[in-house]
Amino acid sequence: MTTGRTYLAIPGPSVSPERVLNAMHRSAPNIYEGEIVDMTRALIPDLRRVAQTSQHVAIYIANGHGAWEAANCNMFARGDRALLVATGRFGHGWAEGLARQGVSVEIIDFGKASPADPQRIADALRADTTHQIKAVLVTHVDTASSARNDLPAIRAAIDSTGHPALLAVDAIASLACDELRMDDWGIDVVVGASQKGLMLPPGLGFVWFSDKALELSRRADLVTPYWDWKPRGTGTEFWQYFGGTAPTHHLYGLREALTMILDEEGLEAVWARHQRLASAVWAAFDAWGAGSAIALNMANPTDRGHSVTAATIPHGGAGALRRWLEAEAGVTLGIGLGMAAPSEPAYQDFLRVGHMGHVNAHMTLGVLASMEAGLQALGITHGPGAVEAAARAIASPT
Ligand SMILES: *Cc1c(COP(=O)(O)O)cnc(C)c1O
Repeated sequence: MTTGRTYLAIPGPSVSPERVLNAMHRSAPNIYEGEIVDMTRALIPDLRRVAQTSQHVAIYIANGHGAWEAANCNMFARGDRALLVATGRFGHGWAEGLARQGVSVEIIDFGKASPADPQRIADALRADTTHQIKAVLVTHVDTASSARNDLPAIRAAIDSTGHPALLAVDAIASLACDELRMDDWGIDVVVGASQKGLMLPPGLGFVWFSDKALELSRRADLVTPYWDWKPRGTGTEFWQYFGGTAPTHHLYGLREALTMILDEEGLEAVWARHQRLASAVWAAFDAWGAGSAIALNMANPTDRGHSVTAATIPHGGAGALRRWLEAEAGVTLGIGLGMAAPSEPAYQDFLRVGHMGHVNAHMTLGVLASMEAGLQALGITHGPGAVEAAARAIASPT
């Protein structure tokens, strides 16, 4: 049953539209003059729009880890302190890199199944009376737990303390999926990557930064030339060469993706589509979970990201279902990341469904119906009516 178009429903890399791939499928352009120079210059305002900012953006040839490191080395000087808000594996990943770069990281760990409590962030900042903490780092949507943090509430909590720390956000899993308004929400640094909501192959990393972050970065002594955001954030010449050869084909793909997101569908419609598709996934899991141990990782819908859903199917059911779907239905789901070590039996109890980027109703309903078939084929106990509940969520959004 796998002949036909397969679907990689993992939380990144996501499905790239044919239009994006076709835009990339061409011979290399002259990077010294001609259309790529003008096209790249015109990408900058659109990149600002996708993060809802009028401030600065730097493009790197890097994945998300590279973009993390770029943000880190521009924000901090050696020996500075960072306050990292962890709501899943990705928060800890950001902290690990930061610590290895020489920054002293204080982690507030909210565990694997709850969003951050802004009050505890405020308490930690109030305790820092000498303002050693230079930035509060938050993962918007943690791709391991699918927890989504309330960024305006976190901003308000920081402001209530009068502490000058920057607010830096990892939006790699949420950019062009979940509502994100950098300037209106008072975010100083946003970290993104190409292969999730932006629908490109992996290879581009982005860091948006505020005037305030730019000012602070003038004292940062961790930065090395390639990662310095100051020249990347200004200057046509830099956008032409990117500190070396431009990522030519990715730029053509990015042009197409941003046109689709911003000019054709519209950013708010993109957010609304992700919300509606996520509600279908949640409706299916709620039905499966009735009278069974199948459960969503995040109990409260307002705490869930709209681009990825983490769930439990105990007794190895998640692993068995993932294998069945790949072998029998042409669907690949995500592994449970950071919930248990790969060597532990519990590792097979977790999975994630990616629903980010170039996804629509038939893709999401197809995944859910295939999962229903897998649960039946494997004899995994589950509640009835999941596909119908998901269809209802699509048919009449609340
Ligand atoms: C995917 C992801 C990353 C890591 O990105 P890579 O490109 O794999 O390095 C970091 N943070 C979040 C929230 C992610 O979803």
